[in-house]
Amino acid sequence: MAAHTASPLAPDWLQVPEDGNALDPVIFSSGVSRHDDGQLAVQGIPASQLAADYGTPLLVVDEDDFRARARSFRDAFDAAFEDLCGGVDVYYAGKSFLVTPVARWIAEEGLCLDTASGGELAVALRAGVDPARIGLHGNNKSDGELRRALEVGVGRIVVDSLDELTRLAELAQEAGLTAPVMLRLTPGVHAHTHEFIATAHEDQKFGLSMADSSFTEGQDPDLSADAQRMDGPIPGKSPAAQAVAQALAAPSIELRGLHCHIGSQIFEADGFALAAERLLTFLAAIRQDHGVELEELDLGGGHGIAYTSADEPRAPEQIATALAAVVRAVCERLQMRCPRISIEPGRAISGPAGLSLYTVGVRKTVAVDHADGTFPRRYVAVDGGMSDNPRPVLYDADYTAVLASRTTEATPVLSRVVGKHCESGDIVVRDAYLPEDLQRGDLLAVPATGAYCHALSSNYNLLTRPAVVAVKDGVSRLIIRRETEDDLFARETE
Ligand SMILES: *Cc1c(COP(=O)(O)O)cnc(C)c1O
Repeated sequence: MAAHTASPLAPDWLQVPEDGNALDPVIFSSGVSRHDDGQLAVQGIPASQLAADYGTPLLVVDEDDFRARARSFRDAFDAAFEDLCGGVDVYYAGKSFLVTPVARWIAEEGLCLDTASGGELAVALRAGVDPARIGLHGNNKSDGELRRALEVGVGRIVVDSLDELTRLAELAQEAGLTAPVMLRLTPGVHAHTHEFIATAHEDQKFGLSMADSSFTEGQDPDLSADAQRMDGPIPGKSPAAQAVAQALAAPSIELRGLHCHIGSQIFEADGFALAAERLLTFLAAIRQDHGVELEELDLGGGHGIAYTSADEPRAPEQIATALAAVVRAVCERLQMRCPRISIEPGRAISGPAGLSLYTVGVRKTVAVDHADGTFPRRYVAVDGGMSDNPRPVLYDADYTAVLASRTTEATPVLSRVVGKHCESGDIVVRDAYLPEDLQRGDLLAVPATGAYCHALSSNYNLLTRPAVVAVKDGVSRLIIRRETEDDLFARETE
């Protein structure tokens, strides 16, 4: 293909592809390649075959790739932390993509599983995951969710507030059980892609602040001391310190350690490292104040992936090695034993393993005014959209797309892939160069849709949600069937 000039409408990061048929291995799962006939294939199965067998839109999950990514996190972190704390527990963040078979894959690959609701916990249990290897998260867990977690014996409940700590202690006591608790703290570190910001106070709903509180506002002086303790911090003492003291004093709570989660789509290790340093320092303070060495430290998830060729994520080995060096140095400085480390990758395991297949429908080129003149933008409408991938609408997320059902030498033109919903914001891929000869009926593949697409999908405009197909050892199988019209009516009562 000849070199083509970029459209002035394109964002700076978007390159005109030298070869529009190429499949960037950083974005696509390892099983994706061009078939002999030019089609995109997943483990040798051509896109048109998948579309014929299962219909479109379709989420295709490369199970071997998913499992390999799960193993690579486990192996890389185990290797880096082996001599520090005997290895690392990797909790797959189920919220990124959780269906029963996926929970089984996680257990089979030796990972633990994070859940964030009673529903996610139910899937983990249905899959037969050992409850001791399940964690339960959430900033507003119900008594029912906490009770169930206690009764089935989950390995850790990540407590998010003083209110929850009080309720959990009571529920455990009533049940005659001990609650294994990690306290979620906000270390004042927010990370995203290449930057992190460090502050003391955090303005967010999650976690217990590590910064000393100076407020008594919002507390009703008529409330009992007990009721105040539930939702208001004690002046001069951080909510985190208060929670530690309260947890250590409660006979029905077994305080296992501390937890933090500093953001999403993080490429560099330095944000994780700073959070680790702050939490290790806090652990040393707990040892000082209470004479207790807590055993576990969870550094959360958020490991970044490539959604487009502009993203350059680090390998798990790189993050693990950098983090281990910091943890080692801080533990030596504070003269403390390294706690057992855990991490919670979600998208980094499920994201790149998935790919969405769509069928091209209407194409339309509009004239767009720009500082340098008027330029064409081509809209390519597909048979899904924000109901199967709301991330572009929710987060301004970028994706890319390639022609999957054939190759072509046609000129790449700046295109916007949109869905079929009644929303002008219904964008699947904001900017991509797609071939000029794109036809109705062609298949488009959007890579890196394994995380937070199925999980966030909806029936908006009463579209039926796509099927999910897993491909393993070159064989495809349906793991979630496509929704039907009957499903749409299933909960109507009249
Ligand atoms: C969302 C979340 C994760 C996973 O985030 P990813 O970006 O998918 O890795 C891990 N831990 C917690 C507490 C989360 O909320």
